[in-house]
Amino acid sequence: MDGLHSQRPSGRQFPDTAGTSAAEGTLAHELAELKARNYFYSVEFGKRKLTAAIKKLKEQELWDDKMMGYTDDYLDYIKSAAMKFKSSPYVAIEKHVDLDTYIPHLPDEDRAGGTADCILIGGNVLHVIDFKYGKSPDGRVNAEWNPQMLIYALGAYEAYRLLYTVEAVRLSIVQPRLSDGISEWECTLDELLQFGRFVKERADLAIKGEGEFTPAPKTCRYCRARGRCEARAKKNVELAFLVGTDPKLLSNEELGQYLLKGRDVAKWLSDAQDVALADCLAGKEVPGWKAVEGRGSRDWTDMDQAFAKLTENGISDTILWERKPLSLAQVEKVVGKKDFQELVGELVIMKPGKPALAEESDKREAITNKVTAAEAFKEEN
Ligand code: SF4
Repeated sequence: MDGLHSQRPSGRQFPDTAGTSAAEGTLAHELAELKARNYFYSVEFGKRKLTAAIKKLKEQELWDDKMMGYTDDYLDYIKSAAMKFKSSPYVAIEKHVDLDTYIPHLPDEDRAGGTADCILIGGNVLHVIDFKYGKSPDGRVNAEWNPQMLIYALGAYEAYRLLYTVEAVRLSIVQPRLSDGISEWECTLDELLQFGRFVKERADLAIKGEGEFTPAPKTCRYCRARGRCEARAKKNVELAFLVGTDPKLLSNEELGQYLLKGRDVAKWLSDAQDVALADCLAGKEVPGWKAVEGRGSRDWTDMDQAFAKLTENGISDTILWERKPLSLAQVEKVVGKKDFQELVGELVIMKPGKPALAEESDKREAITNKVTAAEAFKEEN
């Protein structure tokens, strides 16, 4: 679901332009779902069915063997979460939850809803677990007051409240590709329902067209209107070009503030360019712009035949082929982590990465290239 703020672009109006990583995420989700079904509903979905379904997934272009390990980590998490219940909880896998109670929809719009990866209910506890295959650019996604998770929990509560008593709501996000990829949080049912009232209020305003747009990098990142939204365009143009005309130099304080406010400018520009290019290619007019063919590149029609001809004519194979070592990560992958560590682990060093600018909230330690007193003293000695 896109950012939770006071307006709601219709899903139908804008194409879903999610890229390869989203498709990869979908594939990993399918695999995770199969494994969870096999574990919790082994009678209906036994080992043979699981093996056949996984075989099919493996045929997909984006398949990566690593997905097996990552989805096992997710499965281990939901198994242990289920075991924490005093008696076996009710389990729903990939459950579509309806949000009509909180987010009404216009007659020509899709109904608001979402799919919760795993719901466990029992002993007055509702536990919603979300599997995230992606590596968020901001690091681990936090479950605490996470709007997407709370919305799934609201939907799950509405779906099951007649059957189960709920007093506590547990939220977990499992991101197995990150080393610290599990985030958990718990709140009371009252807190969840308070959030539900807030969502409803904002959704009602949006339906009436009275809400305010609040563009921000995180809010707009996955919004389908991100390349065309006027509020986002205005905000970014203002930040990029109308920063004031005073010719004085910015102080570090001001520089920091502008960088913070303007962090979405480059992304917005590229989103807007994508939309304009798509329209130009579709034959629509975008005044001042047109689509052109990018720089082409040469390729063989038949490389084997070309190389054979060259060698027949005295060009040595050693000139035509390059012998390149695999990267360290590739060697580790083909040799296996354990053997790699045993055989060549001591020959690996960690080189520091290139300095990069990051926001203060980033978990990495701040660095400088200023020589410390200890280093200077060491050198003198
Ligand atoms: S781009 Fe941002 S501000 Fe505009 S509709 Fe989408 S989420 Fe809202």
